[in-house]
Amino acid sequence: MMLEADLQRRLIKAVAERVIQHTDELVALDQAIGDGDHGLNMKRGFEAVLADLDKLSAMPLAESLNGVGMSLVMKVGGASGPLYGSLFMALGKSLPAQADRVGLAQAFAAAVDAVKSRGKSDVGQKTMIDVLVPVLSMLKDATSDLPASLCAAAQNAAAATIPVRAQRGRASFLGERSIGHMDPGARSAALMVCAVVDVMEGRA
Ligand code: ADP
Ligand code: MG
Repeated sequence: MMLEADLQRRLIKAVAERVIQHTDELVALDQAIGDGDHGLNMKRGFEAVLADLDKLSAMPLAESLNGVGMSLVMKVGGASGPLYGSLFMALGKSLPAQADRVGLAQAFAAAVDAVKSRGKSDVGQKTMIDVLVPVLSMLKDATSDLPASLCAAAQNAAAATIPVRAQRGRASFLGERSIGHMDPGARSAALMVCAVVDVMEGRA
């Protein structure tokens, strides 16, 4: 997929900055049902991405996404580092040189599959997958007002993890006590989707 270098830069920067801005919120969510490190893990990973921003902006999109994924694998750690790393690396690998929306949806499908197989997880288990899958469905059946509704759908999907009992990751150790809290990874996934949408709609 060809992206104007400036757009590529703004997308990477917006996603990284959005996650970093919400560090405390992600920490608090992970304190409730995990070990409290999700916010700082993600901050460390995206600070590494921002440190490489010039380089990542100048690369072809596929290489750039792969580079973001590698930084996340190396710097985020925990469960989410390899999972988000897989997402970005698979996206880079699967995006055709000239992707339209259908090509983008196919590449995103491959990326979500990579997360599912890395995490041995699927939708309904109170993880980031619960946001990624509905976003993928919307990309597949896109209508013209896609961007704005995509952010709202991602946020609703993250909120919809609140009443779910966790079946993967540390939160699953809590059993019933994981009910009543938003999954931190679902929240970070929604933050990234909304940051992309804001750039596409000219707000960032
Ligand atoms: P850790 O759980 O190792 O402390 P983080 O706190 O950084 O790692 O990330 C936790 C998030 O990772 C969870 O909120 C959840 O969304 C996601 N997660 C954990 N395990 C899985 C899995 N097997 N599949 C998909 N997502 C997962
Ligand atoms: Mg954690």
